Amino acid sequence: MSHLYFDYAASTPLDPRVKESMDEVALIAGNPSSLHASGRMLREKIDRARRSLAGLLDVDETEIIFTSGATESNVAALDGIVRAVRASHPARRLRIVASAIEHSSVSATLARLQEYGAAVDIVPVAADGRVRPDDVARAITADTVIVCIMWANNVLGAIQPIAEISGAVAEAKMKRGPKDPPLFFVCDAVQAMSTQSVLPRRLGIDALSLSAHKMYGPKGVGALYLKRGTPFAPLITGGGQEAGRRSGTENVAGITGLGRAAEILIVDRAAENERTARLRRALVDGLRAIRGVEVFGKDADSLPGTAFLSGRENGDVLALKLDVKGIAASAGSACDAGNRKKSSALAALPDHRFADRGGVRLSFGRFTRHEEISAVITALREA
Ligand code: PMP
Repeated sequence: MSHLYFDYAASTPLDPRVKESMDEVALIAGNPSSLHASGRMLREKIDRARRSLAGLLDVDETEIIFTSGATESNVAALDGIVRAVRASHPARRLRIVASAIEHSSVSATLARLQEYGAAVDIVPVAADGRVRPDDVARAITADTVIVCIMWANNVLGAIQPIAEISGAVAEAKMKRGPKDPPLFFVCDAVQAMSTQSVLPRRLGIDALSLSAHKMYGPKGVGALYLKRGTPFAPLITGGGQEAGRRSGTENVAGITGLGRAAEILIVDRAAENERTARLRRALVDGLRAIRGVEVFGKDADSLPGTAFLSGRENGDVLALKLDVKGIAASAGSACDAGNRKKSSALAALPDHRFADRGGVRLSFGRFTRHEEISAVITALREA
């Protein structure tokens, strides 16, 4: 039986063009910090990847920090900004505003920062899985140092109103007095990268996380965009790589893969986005025609490659039935599944229907063919 992969939100398949770029680099001996020709060759690979990623994001190369993935990027951004601002404002109890549906790499870090004295203000989501910008504006106080809202949710596929949230943050920044701590907008853009135009500078984002394995690159490498001038205490200290912001010998093959993945997106993303949106429309139409199946969210507010559905059965059972039929999909999100607890994104919805039953996330993209969409609809009809 052929296997159909519908779990792009957990990890996108590696693009063969990306793999090719990595294979070549993986065989070069040396350390990119070495001054000899071999080292210089590796350094040039990192430089090129940095240029490519900076090009995709339309930011300065110096604002890119390569990391081990978006978990590290999120932790480094939150922890790094809070520690740096705490050093300059020791008398203030710093606060962080975050949405109720952030990835665990954000929510678990916020819990840890609370133990170290920071306060966290959670902004709810409405029934559409989206944060209301007014709620963000109301949650910000003179002690808020970070507003952390993801671009798009990994379970529901709901795209957040980033421009409006950014506007609320910008307004709050203007109200700051000379003695107040500064305010920064941190955004986890992991799920948005493969289809959305992610331009942090234009959107007033100060720190942005991304992961290569959600954009057809390899697992275990990612990046943090950190706007020039943002106070930052490095999480990983040592040899001073990445301009002192992230030490450790660079994952040159992985970084090369991330750079190549960015180059491909620069050329292909707009057209791919349209094709993926067409696939989603066909999928959602087919699913909604099945009795007892409900698809979450409006098309316009959803990532083109993600559809969360709830059926007559529990999400875990449905995912298992699909697995038996050779279809890989996740119940809730993979990260939550590992913990065997209800998805926090589902639990955050005001209407508990989706949380009670759970559901299945079908996510797809670059390598998904129309026939596969038909096959998954048939499988769910029979399930
Ligand atoms: N944020 C979001 C929204 C994600 O979906 C993921 C991946 N599941 C991460 C962060 C963590 O990324 P990584 O796997 O690169 O650590």
